[in-house]
Amino acid sequence: MPNTPFPSKRAPVFQDVPDEQWNDWHWQLSHRLNTVADFEQLFPLTESERKALSTPDLFRVDITPYFASLIDPADPLDPIRRQVIPTEKEILPFSGMMEDSLAEDAHSPVPGLVHRYPDRVLMLVTNQCASYCRYCTRSRLVGDPHQAISSRYFEVQLDYIRNTPQIRDVLISGGDPLTMAPKMLERVLTALREIPHVEIIRIGTRVPVFMPQRVDDALCDLLQRFHPLWLNIHVNHPNEITAELAEACDKLSRAGIPLGNQSVLLAGVNDDPYLMRKLVQDLVRIRVRPYYIYQCDLVEGAGHFRTTVAKGLEIMEALRGHTSGLCVPTYVVDAPGGGGKIPVMPNYVLSASRDKVVLRNFEGYISAYTEPDDYQEPDESLIAPYKPAGPDPQEGIFGLLSGNELAIKPEWFDQVHLRGRGTPRLRTDQQQGKALGSGEEGEKPNQT
Ligand code: SF4
Repeated sequence: MPNTPFPSKRAPVFQDVPDEQWNDWHWQLSHRLNTVADFEQLFPLTESERKALSTPDLFRVDITPYFASLIDPADPLDPIRRQVIPTEKEILPFSGMMEDSLAEDAHSPVPGLVHRYPDRVLMLVTNQCASYCRYCTRSRLVGDPHQAISSRYFEVQLDYIRNTPQIRDVLISGGDPLTMAPKMLERVLTALREIPHVEIIRIGTRVPVFMPQRVDDALCDLLQRFHPLWLNIHVNHPNEITAELAEACDKLSRAGIPLGNQSVLLAGVNDDPYLMRKLVQDLVRIRVRPYYIYQCDLVEGAGHFRTTVAKGLEIMEALRGHTSGLCVPTYVVDAPGGGGKIPVMPNYVLSASRDKVVLRNFEGYISAYTEPDDYQEPDESLIAPYKPAGPDPQEGIFGLLSGNELAIKPEWFDQVHLRGRGTPRLRTDQQQGKALGSGEEGEKPNQT
């Protein structure tokens, strides 16, 4: 299908809205749909949807008229409808369910800031979104007016960043930062740009998908003052790629903002290899680089959206090699309990010997790569400028490869293996378990 134009839709109930209003993001926000009566102007609800919408304390429902117009009114299984209209399944508990499955709160040194990885932080600046996704990882925080992220937290968050020179990359998210008042967004971006060690600012947003009208010239002018600034959108299904989204992405790209996409693998929405292939190819057509496919988190309300990890692997198998590498995102499981993103992919290395590595390609073609027998590590003088100045407490597996560590042990390991004794039974020399050439004594903290 060569360059089929992307659709532009408006539900019949909105046909009489003047274009001036329809294209105004304030109008889109103030006319969001959230009640049984609102939705039944567009399509008949199922009994399950009606019951869910009448359930007290349900995760907030709000859908922009633009995004609601993308729903096929004749299809109760429509993939866009599934993402934003609750069903009774949302209320069901499931095995493994958690409120904060990524342990973000445990990784928050100050309110609204998550410092999980060595060189970057997540800064939550609002808990408002343009529409609300039923599988939201932060449903414990998002949409609740009683848990609004106060602007007085910004100073505390900024102070933490100012005082932590290892932070070179700040991801602004929420909620959705592009729902913020422009002045407030400008204030946050300006303050971040004034911090010398913040090299990169990233924004995570679903606004271009829910409300592309928000991406106007004024917003692009504002954002491009803060380069290098990257932006990740969140598209899950090809039906979300419209003429309006394409135009919004074009504007952002012209403002010099590199665009990526994060999808969540969702049962009944995008859990099919061919559908995902179409999605990633269409994203690249609008100059958005597929960045991540997330395994659905173990979060309350999202049990019915979960697929097996095997389904994700099958999808990755259908992408790598079958379409250009530019279209292939990284599939990740965000480890429950706060382990962070763990990439998962089919295995392409089948075996190895001293001088051969046996690999297979996407077609099942198997070949041997001959390793060089005269390979030498780069000279120390070449790499010295790039080495970190001090110890890296999160060196992890790389610490084993680089020889800085011999083992990574659970916290309880030594205690259990001492079997109740204060010191090892045979000799008490602490150095006897140290491998020759493994790290320098006193160089870095114990990595248990
Ligand atoms: S846009 Fe993001 S933060 Fe907002 S409801 Fe959807 S997933 Fe959650």
